[in-house]
Amino acid sequence: MKSLVRENDEILVNSAPKRLHIITFGCQMNEYDSQRMAQMLMDSYRLTPFPEEADLIIVNTCSIREKAEHKLYSLLGRLKGLKRTNPSLKIGVAGCVAQQLGKDLFERAPQVDFVMGPQGLYDLKRIVRCLEKGEERLLKTELNEDFDIPYIDVPLPRRGDVRAFVTIMQGCDNFCTYCIVPFVRGREISRPVDDILREIGSLVDQGVKDVTLLGQNVNSYGKKPSEGVDCPGLLKEIDRAFPGIRLRFTTSHPKDLSDRLIECFGRLGTLCEHLHLPVQSGSDRILKRMNRRYSRAEYLQKVEKLRSACPDMTITTDLIVGFPGETEEDFSQTMSLLEKVRFDQAFAFKFSERPGTAAARFPEKVAEDVKSRRLTKLLELQNQIGLEQYRRFEGRVCQVLVESSSREKLTARTRENHVVNLEGGSNLVGRLINVYIERACHHSLVGRILH
Ligand code: SF4
Repeated sequence: MKSLVRENDEILVNSAPKRLHIITFGCQMNEYDSQRMAQMLMDSYRLTPFPEEADLIIVNTCSIREKAEHKLYSLLGRLKGLKRTNPSLKIGVAGCVAQQLGKDLFERAPQVDFVMGPQGLYDLKRIVRCLEKGEERLLKTELNEDFDIPYIDVPLPRRGDVRAFVTIMQGCDNFCTYCIVPFVRGREISRPVDDILREIGSLVDQGVKDVTLLGQNVNSYGKKPSEGVDCPGLLKEIDRAFPGIRLRFTTSHPKDLSDRLIECFGRLGTLCEHLHLPVQSGSDRILKRMNRRYSRAEYLQKVEKLRSACPDMTITTDLIVGFPGETEEDFSQTMSLLEKVRFDQAFAFKFSERPGTAAARFPEKVAEDVKSRRLTKLLELQNQIGLEQYRRFEGRVCQVLVESSSREKLTARTRENHVVNLEGGSNLVGRLINVYIERACHHSLVGRILH
């Protein structure tokens, strides 16, 4: 759970009289959406990190993690107290849980004034105007297949960040059996190329040097014939327009990782040598039950192609253990896939069902203690592999982008997406510098600046 602003974020202060507090759960896409909401209201609200001084609080929810509903209600319970001290306070709920619960939220949490889903948030300005006129319980949760993601032409004052995220598409057509996203974010919708280029341009003007393109399934960007430019085409356009940036994208579905897209690695100077490619399981039987629509062999083949296009490529992944029906044999297939691919990092979770998904109705549930044991075993193996992978950088000279500083300690990032800790002055933030990698730790590197 994050507030969109931190205490002492001076640059977010504008002269608007009212105050807005946004609480964000979940992924980078939700953080991006929270920023869009702040942008939309910037002419009349300024952001505050303190909920108790806000005139408007928006909770931007995520349904991917476990107990999302429960967490939301408990937060709303705490916010209800603020309404007693400030009766004019308005509270809104946005995002995936809002989409899922819809008007039921008004029944369970009468302190909520408006509910809007991932498409509805673009109507925020109108919703707030209606609230100010005295309208109550406003609901905006339609999902429209022909929805056009609007361009918000108001730059958000930034905190001097050198990294930024740009959503290029939203929604998902894949219906993996464990996932709620297609139900709450709707079908895939790609943003127009010109809007994306314009947004990156304004970020670059503000000093951003590392841009990550976001979407639930980024590599199916522009797949409708009417959209004209596909994901490799978009990467090429961005590379041409902004040759000085570092470019990344996430999340990719293995089945949509085309040869043309793989060829972009190593060919486009801006495209960094890192890909997050969620595999979820190493067993064909489980992949089928998950409706992932690729096989273990196909996944391994894509990894091989990526590494021949770009030998030093960092590959990271997501894994689920204890999916319904997962046997010891299935799990050992996942373990052997880890050994074969040698991911730099893997984000592994125990399966937990999401109401409304197909997998929630699957029989052959795996017992909690079995899931826990498998997860521990998997993380032990991955920690060892991850450290070995990080060690390949020891003794090398890498170019890093310095992202932040605190008391003469710098945090920087390699093109391969490894965090490097260094000593140095804050004047280096935003600069590309060469460093000597002294040693690898779990999940980071320690470097020394080369003068
Ligand atoms: S690809 Fe699968 S896991 Fe990813 S958002 Fe779509 S349905 Fe969910």
